[in-house]
Amino acid sequence: MEKSMIAPCGMNCELCVSRQRKKKKCPGCRGGDGNKPAGCVNCVIRNCVSLPKSGFCYDCERRCARLKSLDKRYRTKYGMSMLENLEDISESGIEAFVRREEKRWMCPSCGATLCVHRDVCLSCGARWK
Ligand SMILES: [Zn+2]
Repeated sequence: MEKSMIAPCGMNCELCVSRQRKKKKCPGCRGGDGNKPAGCVNCVIRNCVSLPKSGFCYDCERRCARLKSLDKRYRTKYGMSMLENLEDISESGIEAFVRREEKRWMCPSCGATLCVHRDVCLSCGARWK
């Protein structure tokens, strides 16, 4: 996994269904707008003008509503927390976070990267949630 695939909000774009599909793969939050879902193109976090130098929301004290609602939606629907991710990145650094993500999201059956939006591995079909 590349650290450039971790969005400012703490989302790991490698886990996204728009990234893992076979055609028209999304380049990730930090990539160009082609093949990117409209919700991500227009996201207020991605387009934030006061994004901290780190490139992540963890050292921003504003904790905007979009980040809170995104975190809540992902915690309840997908069992993943943006705010937890941001805390990890802040404490351990982006490199360590990415190495941990590689292990955390590796399919136990085939070794592919799991999709946070689906409860089966998109590569081998194994149920993991
Ligand atoms: Zn698999």
